[in-house]
Amino acid sequence: MVDQPVSVQNPHTPSDAPVLVSGASFAGLATAYWLNRLGYRVTVVEVASGLRKGGTPVDIEGETVGILERMGMFDAVRAKALPPRTFEFKDAQDHTLGSFGLESGPDAPPRTRFEIHRDDLLEILFAGIDGSVELLFGRSIKQLNDGPEGVTVTLDDGTLRTYALVFGCDGNRSNTRKLVFGAEKNFTYFMGGYVYLKVVPVTGILPSNVSQVFSVPRRTAMLNGYDDRTDIGLAFRTEGEIEYDYLDRAQQRAMIHDHFDGLSWKVPAALTHVDTDDDFYFDRINQIRMPFWSKGRVALVGDAGYCVSPVAGMGGSMAIIGAGRLAEALERHGADYTAAFQDYHDKLQAFVDEVQIRAANEGMATIFPADDAEISERDRKLRDGELDL
Ligand SMILES: Cc1cc2nc3c(=O)[nH]c(=O)nc-3n(C[C@H](O)[C@H](O)[C@H](O)COP(=O)(O)OP(=O)(O)OC[C@H]3O[C@@H](n4cnc5c(N)ncnc54)[C@H](O)[C@@H]3O)c2cc1C
Repeated sequence: MVDQPVSVQNPHTPSDAPVLVSGASFAGLATAYWLNRLGYRVTVVEVASGLRKGGTPVDIEGETVGILERMGMFDAVRAKALPPRTFEFKDAQDHTLGSFGLESGPDAPPRTRFEIHRDDLLEILFAGIDGSVELLFGRSIKQLNDGPEGVTVTLDDGTLRTYALVFGCDGNRSNTRKLVFGAEKNFTYFMGGYVYLKVVPVTGILPSNVSQVFSVPRRTAMLNGYDDRTDIGLAFRTEGEIEYDYLDRAQQRAMIHDHFDGLSWKVPAALTHVDTDDDFYFDRINQIRMPFWSKGRVALVGDAGYCVSPVAGMGGSMAIIGAGRLAEALERHGADYTAAFQDYHDKLQAFVDEVQIRAANEGMATIFPADDAEISERDRKLRDGELDL
């Protein structure tokens, strides 16, 4: 269900100019949607053979609500929104140390914060562009040459095409960023740990519509309960980055066991799901911090340019906000892409910085406390009602 979008009219948009988007997740689908509305001829390349499903729900609030409304998609999001959720912090005996959550019921204030399954949001965004843009799955950019006439792009199947603009929406380990801006290590801010996330079709580990968090120094287990599934999150801190093979799932499972075997609370129940299959998300907890998100005719959107990390709890929102702000800038400046990219950066940078700094400091200390002192401070904030994730 996608309602009719408000029309966009910009006499300065270079009509029908071909543009390329790399990545078909939140940033890529939202960017493709806006570029199509602005009158560009859009191609999307996605390295996976279809939309990359899986993962934990996405929070939608504030500016993201307004952008989804302007995209004509908010009703569809609200229809799929999950019930309000309570957060509980637990000790080893499963006593609740503190909790907070949204009020529900007839007297509750109107809802301004929504949560939606990652896959549902992907489907809604996809429905907004399907049939209007060219989608090439199983394809990736191999080479980019930015010249006066446009960006000449070679895809990994050998296809060669020239685009007026290219948008890197290909995530935390962005291929476009690597090709245009250089090595990933120059932009990666490691936050000091690793996270494992898995969705299991099992209920009863905890009640529905509740999230529970259990921490000991340097290790946190987090469970989200739903009517039909449970999210399992296991995160551990390390002194520095550790060497591991991204493709070796057995090695990643072993790392989880090394850090979590022997812990109490519901950790043993969570660990029974770790070895069942390779369908899980495991990555370092990091941010992408760049001085500027564009170079010539190439701009980055979402995690590719400013990953805020899972700790921020708003990676999906940030990607949608980024695409919306980019569209506003392109609409404002028409064919002057240099001015548009500068504007996009200038108007979004302060917000990105604020979210990243909060996640790296309070976010890490609250969700992944490093020591007993951070756990005590978290418990004090819980008692004093100072926590709101
Ligand atoms: C399968 C999956 C599960 C996730 N689960 C969680 C989660 O549980 N919790 C959480 O906080 N965050 C999760 N994330 C990250 C979260 O989606 C992002 O932080 C956020 O949504 C920002 O979106 P994005 O579009 O910028 O990046 P992403 O959602 O990471 O999307 C990047 C897209 O680019 C594609 N891509 C990568 N390389 C190339 C290439 N060379 N060429 C073309 N396309 C390419 C990817 O396949 C992907 O579709 C997950 C990401 C993925 C892909």
